[in-house]
Amino acid sequence: MNIVNDNTCSWLNDLNERTSVKTLNKDKSCDWLIIGAGYTGLSAARKLSELHPNQKIIIVDAQLAGEGASGRNSGYLVDTTLNDGFTSNKELSNYKKKTNIYKLGIDVVKRFIKEQQVDCDWNESGKYFASSNEKDRKILENFSKTLLKLNFEHNILDKDDLGKRLGTNFYNLALYTKGGVLLHPGKLVRAMVDTLPDNVELLENTQLNEWSKNSDTIVCKFNNHKIITKKVIFCTNGFLKSLGIKNNYNFPLTLTASMTRTLTDTEFKSIGEPKEWGVLPVRPMGATTRMTKDKRILIRNTAEVHSPFKMSKSELDKRSLNQKLGIKKRFPTLPNDIIESSWSGIVSRTRNSSQIFEKIDDNVFVAGCYNGSGIGVGTLFGEQIAIKASNENSDEINIIESRSKPTWLPPQPFLNIGVITRLMFERFRSRSDV
Ligand SMILES: Cc1cc2nc3c(=O)[nH]c(=O)nc-3n(C[C@H](O)[C@H](O)[C@H](O)COP(=O)(O)OP(=O)(O)OC[C@H]3O[C@@H](n4cnc5c(N)ncnc54)[C@H](O)[C@@H]3O)c2cc1C
Repeated sequence: MNIVNDNTCSWLNDLNERTSVKTLNKDKSCDWLIIGAGYTGLSAARKLSELHPNQKIIIVDAQLAGEGASGRNSGYLVDTTLNDGFTSNKELSNYKKKTNIYKLGIDVVKRFIKEQQVDCDWNESGKYFASSNEKDRKILENFSKTLLKLNFEHNILDKDDLGKRLGTNFYNLALYTKGGVLLHPGKLVRAMVDTLPDNVELLENTQLNEWSKNSDTIVCKFNNHKIITKKVIFCTNGFLKSLGIKNNYNFPLTLTASMTRTLTDTEFKSIGEPKEWGVLPVRPMGATTRMTKDKRILIRNTAEVHSPFKMSKSELDKRSLNQKLGIKKRFPTLPNDIIESSWSGIVSRTRNSSQIFEKIDDNVFVAGCYNGSGIGVGTLFGEQIAIKASNENSDEINIIESRSKPTWLPPQPFLNIGVITRLMFERFRSRSDV
């Protein structure tokens, strides 16, 4: 089955059209093959090129590079999270390990944008974990205790304060964390594509269908041609399972989001001209909402079990309607028809929210499964899996590997039944904040 990204994502439509796109048009061989050109794969390619300037490195993507989840997410580069999809963190030492990884992720993205002078609307604005439901105060107070122990600067805000800051009276309370960055995900990943080093060959619209390993060579089959490589790194995140990688440890979820057009000056004044902000939900299945730098409103309020390969327009329209209602609830005075685009994207989950970072066979490596933290963690893991695959070590690898490994998942159909039931339950609990 072919991967088809819908072409309706505002972030991607903001970018210039690419002009030089190369596709695999003959059999090839290389030292290194990277499958998947999102943050993880692009970052791995950059690091490999630095470590092996004289070796042949190829990176392939089934679609256009960076136009999967990496170019279509909500743009939060997080330092802390309250939920990982539908699991939350109860144990302090595990939470600390997770935030150590987030910190490294922020550092690596920061270094990249500094070195390459990237404009990706970087804003160290912090973020809000907000709820309309007073009953969620207990959750935020407990979260505050965790953040205090780990010295994350934060404070709890009430309705009036929030109304002024966000331009909506929808939320009753929030925990604001000073750390964390808002950015334009499309601009960031496009910069990673545009600055790929010369010794990396990028092949797009080139989907891996099958692969096999025979002693020292790995044969990767695409539609009409193959690539023979010495080492391979799988960076396909939500598509790991469809390639049979770590099958019993990860599964894909499909997310959808919508973005409004830019608010007019009158509309923006009517909501109090708030500064750019980002809200994450307190309950796992509530909506993520954002006011962008250029006065657009983003909402993401679905996560579901769906074929990762394609969402039809009619299916997307249904989700978009739901997002229109979500915006109306928060901004009742704005017009009804301000959504400019809606899109879907694929993330990857593990049972215990740990990421995958592994050698799965001699010369075969994989990194993925970041849920809602892939901007930083994906960029970090890409770089570090390249180091690991080169038989080197780093402090970052030690930190990454000190986290517990993903736990085993039941086979189908039990897995889908379990995930769907859990998502329905969480959606019910989050219903006021969808
Ligand atoms: C709507 C949405 C909102 C999100 N919000 C946030 C957020 O605010 N902050 C955050 O940090 N993260 C967020 N995420 C998650 C984040 O986008 C991902 O974790 C991150 O993009 C993962 O990067 P990646 O490079 O590993 O995977 P991807 O970006 O998914 O890249 C994998 C690539 O592999 C390619 N591929 C797959 N199969 C094959 C194959 N067989 N052959 C060749 N190529 C293949 C795909 O085409 C794709 O381009 C969100 C995701 C979505 C969808």
